[in-house]
Amino acid sequence: MKFINIKDWGLGINFQHPYLIAGPCSAETETQVLQSCKGAAEQGAMMLRAGIWKPRTRPNSFEGIGKKGLPWIKAAGKENQLPVTVEVANKDHVKEALAAGVDILWIGARTTVNPFATQEIADALLGVDIPVMIKNPVNPDIDLWIGAIERFYGAGIKKLAAIHRGFSVSRSAPFRNLPMWEIPIELGRRLPQLEIICDPSHICGNRKLIPEVAQKAMDLHFAGLMIETHIDPDEAWSDAKQQLQPNALGAVLKNLVLRKSETDDKNFLAQLETLRVDIDKIDRELTQLMGKRMKIVEAIGQCKKENGITILQMNRWVKIFDNRVAATIAEGLSEEFAQAFIQSIHNESIRQQTRVMNKEVL
Ligand code: PEP
Ligand code: MN
Repeated sequence: MKFINIKDWGLGINFQHPYLIAGPCSAETETQVLQSCKGAAEQGAMMLRAGIWKPRTRPNSFEGIGKKGLPWIKAAGKENQLPVTVEVANKDHVKEALAAGVDILWIGARTTVNPFATQEIADALLGVDIPVMIKNPVNPDIDLWIGAIERFYGAGIKKLAAIHRGFSVSRSAPFRNLPMWEIPIELGRRLPQLEIICDPSHICGNRKLIPEVAQKAMDLHFAGLMIETHIDPDEAWSDAKQQLQPNALGAVLKNLVLRKSETDDKNFLAQLETLRVDIDKIDRELTQLMGKRMKIVEAIGQCKKENGITILQMNRWVKIFDNRVAATIAEGLSEEFAQAFIQSIHNESIRQQTRVMNKEVL
């Protein structure tokens, strides 16, 4: 896939990195949209957002003002000379948004998760030249995310970007949606040309955490940020805890440390190269050691097979899991890594022994 990058979307504005999308979670009243967007624009927003149709977890919450809010966000765009974006979740939303002259569409996390919905929206956009930003699905499934991107690309939309808004998992504390940075990083590896915007608001669910997440996104070289901004956040009709007052948005941006992803500074490059040579050597040793370990595992499998013993001895696994994790942590590594590392080695050991056990059967 060959995407058109955000700065070439032809929106008539001079995009500067990092791209900033800001505006309220939901359009509530005309005044609230105009004031929130004006505040966001004054702090450097390059696109203005407002949710018109809101996908809410429970019924009887505010489900969006509906199409009567479209002229409000358009008016905010006009007043601040900025393009505007709204979320669309079905073909009727697309029709209304296009009729109102919305400049950019975004697909919400609860829509990306559903291939019927993304295909319906993509079909409704056949032959339309409009940029689309696609949020990650609520669940941590990168293929659903890529699948949605492919559906829009297949409908002829080349002005595409992704938005990382975290994942709904059972243990997400302190976040509302766990960032799982490895997923957008993997998206970047698989679609290197695709620009990814981070949405700290929906990751954090709490305005206090926004600076930390926004900084991390910048350090991971995301293309931009989408941050919910409301003129009076505490009184917001949706996502009150996570929205920022325009001045607070300004403070977050001012405190961001922006680092460049590359340089041609010779000294730095030489120093980095030396360190990377060491890393490459260690990685080679690690893989060789792992191969050696698995040869022993194979011999153990053979031995168990000959003696009619099961592959797994739970009491040994319980014991080695705990002491290997502790030893890994003692080397200065995180508990999360230690557990995943030991589990991954053990899974491979089981796979190898299963192969030995069933050799003749297979
Ligand atoms: C939103 O951006 O207001 C929104 C509903 O986001 P998400 O789809 O990420 O939950
Ligand atoms: Mn929101």
